[in-house]
Amino acid sequence: MTSNENRLSRILAFLDSTYPDARIVLDFKSPFQLLVATVLAAQCTDDRVNQVTPGLFGRWPDAAELSKATQDEVEAVVRSTGFYKNKAKAVRALAAALVADHGGAVPGDLDLLTKLPGVGRKTASVVLGGCFGKPALPVDTHVGRVSYRLGLTVSNDPVRIEQDLAGAIPAARWWDFTTRLGWHGRRICTGRKPLCDSCGLEPICPKNGLASK
Ligand code: SF4
Repeated sequence: MTSNENRLSRILAFLDSTYPDARIVLDFKSPFQLLVATVLAAQCTDDRVNQVTPGLFGRWPDAAELSKATQDEVEAVVRSTGFYKNKAKAVRALAAALVADHGGAVPGDLDLLTKLPGVGRKTASVVLGGCFGKPALPVDTHVGRVSYRLGLTVSNDPVRIEQDLAGAIPAARWWDFTTRLGWHGRRICTGRKPLCDSCGLEPICPKNGLASK
């Protein structure tokens, strides 16, 4: 085993033991709801989205219902998530496309998901891993930041980071790894002030990109 492989296996073991119950932070009851919640989470915190979605899904629980909502109605509900005009437009278009192309169901396939309006690779990966149990490595801001600091990638580009992680980690572990790394990023390896003194990965972390290492 090389030193890099040894370091990675220590990172995986730390995440497994520290965050065994890690899960998606967004609340949802169906693939459709996770898809919409993930779109709303762009440039917004997951906690804020969770405050909005009970009202949204209470009124329009599925694609068929949301596709009938007006722009003004949806804007009023998603307003506090920011960029609400664009987001209302996006989730209405998404619902309409699901009804038109998939009978209102969410497809469990990366290519089909990324053909839907407003659905990028990260959003599609969240739904594939979170609802369909498929190997998926969604790279959000937390996963990207912590991967870089830990030296698991030298890139800040989410697609490149995903490639680097996918090449190093067995596919069967992708989903748990990204979920747990995201939790570590939210709790310890935070954006502005990472708590390195309290971090169990400190002895093996190069702290790339941090001013004082
Ligand atoms: S040691 Fe610091 S930079 Fe490295 S993972 Fe822990 S909190 Fe993040």
